[in-house]
Parts: sequence; C-alpha cells; structure tokens
Amino acid sequence: MSGSEVTLISPPADALPMELHEKMPRLVRRLGGDLYGVADLTLARAAVMDQGGIDVDEYPRAVSIGIRLMDSIIDQLPQGRETRAVGVTYHTECYEYVNRRLDDIASRVASALQNAGFRALPIPASERIDDQRICAMFSHKLAAHLAGLGWIGRSCLLITPQYGPRVRWISVLTDAPLPAGEPMSDGCGFCRHCVDACPVKAIKGPAFRESEPRESRYDALACQEYLEELGGRKERAVCGMCIAFCPHGRKKRY
Ligand code: SF4
Ligand code: SF4
Repeated sequence: MSGSEVTLISPPADALPMELHEKMPRLVRRLGGDLYGVADLTLARAAVMDQGGIDVDEYPRAVSIGIRLMDSIIDQLPQGRETRAVGVTYHTECYEYVNRRLDDIASRVASALQNAGFRALPIPASERIDDQRICAMFSHKLAAHLAGLGWIGRSCLLITPQYGPRVRWISVLTDAPLPAGEPMSDGCGFCRHCVDACPVKAIKGPAFRESEPRESRYDALACQEYLEELGGRKERAVCGMCIAFCPHGRKKRY
C-alpha cells in the first residue's frame, strides 16, 4: 500500500466515523479482502471475555475481513485422504498463504485505524492459545457472524450466503465507532450434509444457539484426533468434508 492510501483514511478524529466507514471497505478490497463487515462485540461480551479474556469495553467493535478460498482446491478435498497432492495444495494455499495475506491486511487496517486516532488490535488469523478447549484467543467466526456476514452452521463454520464456508477470516478489534452490521439468522434449515459427511461424527447435529456451548454441537477433539491420525498416515493429509459438502458456495456435484 502506498503512503497516499494511508493519508486517504487518516482525517482528524473528529471527522469520523462516516468518512472512515465509507473508506474502510474500499481499503480492504484494495488490499485483497473479499468480505468486510463490522461487529458490535458488546452483543457477545461474555463469550469474548470467556474465550480470550479480551476487555470488550476497550474494543467494542471488530472489523471482520474474509478471503474467499479457491473452489478448485476445495472441490478436491474429498480426495484429500488418499491423494497427498490435495493436502499439500490445501495447506499451502488455503491455509498458510491465505493466512499470511489476512495477517497483512489486518496489520494495515489496524495501522489505518490507529493513524485515524483510534485503538486497534489485529488478531492473528490462526493462533491457538487454549490447547484443552482447542480454540484461539478470539473467534473470527463469531465476529463475522455479528458483523452480518453469515451464520454459524451446524458444522460450527461460518456460512456466508455467497461462498458458504469457503472463506478464511481475520479480525481487527477497535474502539472506532464504526456502524455495526446485524447478525444473520440461521440458514441451515433442514440441511444435514456436514453432519452426514463427517467421518468421525464430530459434528453432532444441533443448530447453533448462542446460549449453548460449542461442545454441544461440535467435538473438536474428535476432529483433531482424526486429522492427527490422517497426518500420521500421510503427511499433510486433509479432511475438510464439512467445507466441501456444504451446499452453500458449492458448484460441483460429488
Ligand atoms: S474436518 Fe473432517 S473430521 Fe473435522 S469436523 Fe470437518 S468433516 Fe469432521
Ligand atoms: S452443510 Fe448444511 S447443515 Fe452443514 S453448515 Fe452447511 S448448510 Fe448448514
């Protein structure tokens, strides 16, 4: 990004938030993000505090940014358990490289917010801090949900209307008073494709309810152990049936 772009969204703080609200999505798009939204974290204060101990009073908003994954790679996932090339491509492109791109965008967005006079904290795209509960310091999916970019499906993945679960996310926490989106209601309906496709029944079936813990819907340990077992048999093996078989964003028939 050039210096002039930073200047573009660095007006005096009292000229905000409308200016910033209009320019931030354009900045994200220019940096390579495909989806942008703003979450009101005060709607999920307890969940945010419980997961990462993040003081929501300090950061009442999260800028949520998504990069769409390549259909050509996701569509190969059903062969990933047998074919090493599928896992190598998925891990390299959809995980490592996309995470680096997301981290870069979040860093630049956080700088822009700071230069505009606000506090901003970029949360790494993939950073687990709790090995027991198998979760990160902050849920990017929750932020995207609160921002109105999609709903949390039976698979516990964030499902977008445009691309289904074929998106990776990052968040920048901030006290900039950006207008927040409205959380989207559940769109899974009677679908159970991910439940039926999961080889270890890690996806239990109930629809997402904010009042119920993740464990009631998703057995993270069963998923992790299965991936470790696959990895032991074949380096960089991959599952991802819950991504490939979701009808939202899927164009290919298996
Ligand atoms: S990655 Fe595979 S094992 Fe894990 S939840 Fe998805 S379908 Fe199940
Ligand atoms: S596969 Fe069906 S039930 Fe599972 S997340 Fe996608 S829409 Fe929801």
